[in-house]
Amino acid sequence: MTPIHKHLKLFLSTIIFLLFHVFAYSQTETFLPLKQDTGKVAFTKVILDGRVYFRNENTNQFITYSEYLLLRDAGLVEQSEVDNHMVYDSFADHWEGDKVNPYKDVVLSTPFKIQFDQTTFTHPIDGEIKVTSRFGRRRRRPHRGIDIDLVTGDAVRSVLSGKVRFVGYSRGHGKTVVVRHANEIETVYAHLSEYAVNTDDIISEGQIIGKGGNTGRSTGSHLHLEVRYKGVCIHPEYVFNFDGSNSIRGAELWVSNGWKSPRSHSAYRKSKVTPLFTEEEAIASEKAEPRFHRVRSGETLSHIAMRYHLGVREICRLNAISQNSTLSIGQIVKVR
Ligand SMILES: [Zn+2]
Repeated sequence: MTPIHKHLKLFLSTIIFLLFHVFAYSQTETFLPLKQDTGKVAFTKVILDGRVYFRNENTNQFITYSEYLLLRDAGLVEQSEVDNHMVYDSFADHWEGDKVNPYKDVVLSTPFKIQFDQTTFTHPIDGEIKVTSRFGRRRRRPHRGIDIDLVTGDAVRSVLSGKVRFVGYSRGHGKTVVVRHANEIETVYAHLSEYAVNTDDIISEGQIIGKGGNTGRSTGSHLHLEVRYKGVCIHPEYVFNFDGSNSIRGAELWVSNGWKSPRSHSAYRKSKVTPLFTEEEAIASEKAEPRFHRVRSGETLSHIAMRYHLGVREICRLNAISQNSTLSIGQIVKVR
């Protein structure tokens, strides 16, 4: 190679090197403005009448907190750092796709408050709701949901919008779908014959989550519907009105011990619902509610009396039994 050729080669490679970098730089320059146009929408958090709403900065439309969370989970929200701190992520805490109840480590004391940002819900089945068994004592087992009559293959719908947390078979519940809603209420749909959703699906209110059936511990096709808050089953009829009005009983409802205890209700009778709208009402209601104790092996009347700071005589009066009566394991004793 001659020196001229050497110089020419160096000159050409320098030109190529420079051209490449100018091109690459211009590419990043032209891509930068595009990068900001992600198709996402920015929202501003606003409080109206004490409730949280989100304003679409392009259209000025207001959406509810649940709608905001669903849009955000679908990746459609331009998130600011402020939002990340201000918005509690109800779809992250105890988000486990392999358990019907991921909240076994949580102890929730009563009364507790649940909140709704809408006043109506969609019935889980089409047509009239026929409740065949209610939340309450059913023979010796507690029944922690309500049974709604249906024909195998009937569509089962999510009562509110939300995100599917669990889809799978559980021994008692059979084929089950659990949907978490933005207010951290979870609804459980059991004894299904088919699933129509997958874990982590974002679903709208009324969306079909599966077909009704008779799987699991079930005699005859029906939907077993549970309403849970952080793993605690709440009397579904305390929250949702199944009288045809499709109404939710309150924007803020206080759940007293009685509305989470099957012991306080009968699965064969409709309980009278008086919604508790304030903490004071809930505390007062709890004081008036009867309390029960399930007898364990080796326990006597005096053990139970001591535990609840009562006299043996008082327990006997509450339960209309004599002081000499023997207790059987599993027996329910009224202690207030
Ligand atoms: Zn049931």
